[in-house]
Amino acid sequence: MEDIQTDFDNLQLPEKSLTKPNIVEFANSFPQTFAEAAKLLYSNHIYVKDDVLQNRIRLASLCRKFHSEADTLTNTIENQWALLNDSATKLFVCAHQPNLFAYSGVFKKVVLLETLKTTIEKYKESGIVNLFVIVDHDFINDIWMRRAQLPSFHHSSGLLQLRFSLDHLKRWAIMSKVPRPSEKILYNWRNDIISWIKKSSPSPSHRAKMIDNLNSFWEIVESAYSKAGSYSDFNAFLMSKIINSVWGYNTLFVRLSEMSKVFQNGFQFLISNLTTYTDALRGTEQMLLSQGQSTGVSSTSYDKAPMWLHCNCGSKARVSVSTQEKYVLTGSCISCKKELTLDIPADGYNRPDLSKVISFISPRAISLPLLLSLDLQISCYCSGKGGLGYLTDANAISRHLGIAWPLTLVWDSKDDYIGIAQNQALDAMHMKIPEAKRRLQELHSRDIEYKTKIRQLVNKRTELANANASLSSILEDLFQLKEEEGRIHREITTLEKATKILNLRPCILDYAVNFGMVHTEKQWHRHLLENGNLTAPVSFDGDYYCDG
Ligand SMILES: [Zn+2]
Repeated sequence: MEDIQTDFDNLQLPEKSLTKPNIVEFANSFPQTFAEAAKLLYSNHIYVKDDVLQNRIRLASLCRKFHSEADTLTNTIENQWALLNDSATKLFVCAHQPNLFAYSGVFKKVVLLETLKTTIEKYKESGIVNLFVIVDHDFINDIWMRRAQLPSFHHSSGLLQLRFSLDHLKRWAIMSKVPRPSEKILYNWRNDIISWIKKSSPSPSHRAKMIDNLNSFWEIVESAYSKAGSYSDFNAFLMSKIINSVWGYNTLFVRLSEMSKVFQNGFQFLISNLTTYTDALRGTEQMLLSQGQSTGVSSTSYDKAPMWLHCNCGSKARVSVSTQEKYVLTGSCISCKKELTLDIPADGYNRPDLSKVISFISPRAISLPLLLSLDLQISCYCSGKGGLGYLTDANAISRHLGIAWPLTLVWDSKDDYIGIAQNQALDAMHMKIPEAKRRLQELHSRDIEYKTKIRQLVNKRTELANANASLSSILEDLFQLKEEEGRIHREITTLEKATKILNLRPCILDYAVNFGMVHTEKQWHRHLLENGNLTAPVSFDGDYYCDG
């Protein structure tokens, strides 16, 4: 801790501002170390405005609702309400979809924010609240929400995939409107994991330890399941139970689908300044595309509104906003195709008044960080690499609209650890990944050589057969070449599968089974305090069976 205090004093922070939008430069402008992030947030003082304070109090009741439904309303959580009522409290935020057994990056964002909070709070009196926004209004269609991947040497693909499949017609439903999986699906997932453990563990004692770890984790899974009505709640409750109950963090959870009222003023501001918003978005997208950078924002969305319009069928529509004479949102529901219209009344100054219609709208990905800044005055936003395109757009818009931009953090480095499947992959490879890459190149070119040689011999065999000459020697040569070709193919298959396993970013189950969730959190926390590099891989202490 003392080291970090020293770092606060001595760290020289670079001047960071971007004149032209550029995703790579934007990402490079983020703090690269834990100490740099801690120093920037330590020296940031805030005093929130009264309307923001009212929004934070609204937020507190939404968080309370979530935690009481998830059964994670602990005493440490209860202590957060007073902080949300204090105008000097800083808010650190991360957001993510409630994916099925989400990958480690989702949990690392929370660990980073918690470690920053506890580090800064040691030296400062004013409080910090960490908030996790569950993005539960996205379409269930997205594969990552419904598929969890474990490395597996026993599968030809190198992966054990747990899936939540759904009726094709339901693919445009919103996650929070989809019922939780059946008990049978849950039962099958567990059986798949048990059989994966049995096939992957090197000895009966390892196997027993892994099964023990799975059983402890599955108790949490079943307890999240028992409280959840929807698919998104099942996944979100599981995250909350790991973070709040197992780790004892006081990170607050809130469902984005319930936050619209908190964002009412921000939405009104964005609609009032819609031309600036869409012009900035269009300009940024064009500039990025001219540099060959794609943000993942669809080409049609830049002239659309910063919000979704929700439909009674449980889906939603992208909308256009007409601001002539009166404010009107129109769009066609992505699922049922119904044409939706929302008339927004104007107040006495001809400004949009969303108070009666706010429950029908929710933020698009680009407007979320802007609304978090406008309505909750957040100090820090922790993102994944996948969100960088949207954030670059949002950052450009924030400068055009004069919206304060929170400190942006990304901690998306890989974890270096040997679990049961990684261990099998290494055993089969007998070499390290860079060496395996070189070996694969060599094998592929040898494969081409052998194919050519075999083709030549086959042609020669045909000639000899046509001439009624003896084939015995050529058949012997051909046999040997084919044998060797088979060996090359087998080695290629093994090396490709093993490198795939070692490069995979597995879902949280791989950590839960190999290390247990408590040991996993310790590894991430320790890396931040001892190494602190946010881009370097996190080396796990010991092997998979070390968790006592
Ligand atoms: Zn609809």
